[in-house]
Amino acid sequence: AKQNGRNAVQFYAPHMNAHALDRLALEGALRGALRDQQFELHFQPQVDLHSGRVVGTEALIRWRHPLLGTVRPDRFIALAEETGLIVPIGAWALRSACSQNRDWQRAGLGQLRVAVNLSARQFSEPDLVQTVRQVLDDTGLAPDSLEIELTESMMMADVESAIETMRCLKAMGVKLSIDDFGTGYSSLAYLKRFPVDVLKIDRSFVRDIVVSRDGAAMVDAIVSLAHSLRMQVIAEGVETIEQLDYLRGCGCDEVQGHIFARPQPVEAVEALLRQGRVA
Ligand code: C2E
Ligand code: CA
Ligand code: CA
Ligand code: CA
Repeated sequence: AKQNGRNAVQFYAPHMNAHALDRLALEGALRGALRDQQFELHFQPQVDLHSGRVVGTEALIRWRHPLLGTVRPDRFIALAEETGLIVPIGAWALRSACSQNRDWQRAGLGQLRVAVNLSARQFSEPDLVQTVRQVLDDTGLAPDSLEIELTESMMMADVESAIETMRCLKAMGVKLSIDDFGTGYSSLAYLKRFPVDVLKIDRSFVRDIVVSRDGAAMVDAIVSLAHSLRMQVIAEGVETIEQLDYLRGCGCDEVQGHIFARPQPVEAVEALLRQGRVA
């Protein structure tokens, strides 16, 4: 119905369920948001547990809707993915994250790294590698200052082609991480074949650290697994001192979470970056 334009939508409207109507409205609004530059990035600091310093940020997209206010990605990423709008939205996010990070580096805030989330659709685009190269060229950001976050399901959808894409990105010098590690469907047999630098422990495991001994054991196991594969480990969603202490004790390399800083707009995070440490 959506390709038939306004008339078709009106004609079918009484028979469509509210969900379908919502989707159409949301899709139109998303196109408008892209056109009217309503997207913005917030950045969440990532802290190195060995030095206590902020070593980078993760860029998280927000939609500043003129009526609804700030809309979180959970509300629109899935539909953006289905409609393919995630490709231009994601390209915008990649470009502005790189450009912002380069500005921070040039302002003398350190060799910061920026982590950018990729969607499945973006990851399988044939020109992804070219897009990344172009963005790095245009912004002048060093490739090793960019980390691309992928999920297990993205890698498992077509393992061989995923490995090929990851190799091309690695050859460029870009860092790769597995987001939400442990929550997706993947196999240990493949993990060692994926050329990734970092495992991000999903916050559901972090939450379980102090809930049960098994929860803590899971975190220990992930940290050991990552280190034995020569990967770094970053824990996300860290909210309490107890969780932080545990993660430090088991050798986790970096953390990210409300205990240090929420994702925030450029000016606010810049103030934190100037301090260098948030702990
Ligand atoms: P994610 O990549 O797993 O991002 C982490 C989420 O956890 C973020 O939610 C962040 O705000 C939240 N978070 C950070 N610290 C804490 C904490 O201490 N406690 C709790 N409870 N939550 C914490 P957010 O920003 O709403 O993003 C949700 C998801 O949307 C992201 O999950 C990511 O999958 C997706 N996303 C965000 N930005 C982009 C983007 O530019 N492109 C794509 N494709 N996806 C994005
Ligand atoms: Ca992420
Ligand atoms: Ca995550
Ligand atoms: Ca996620």
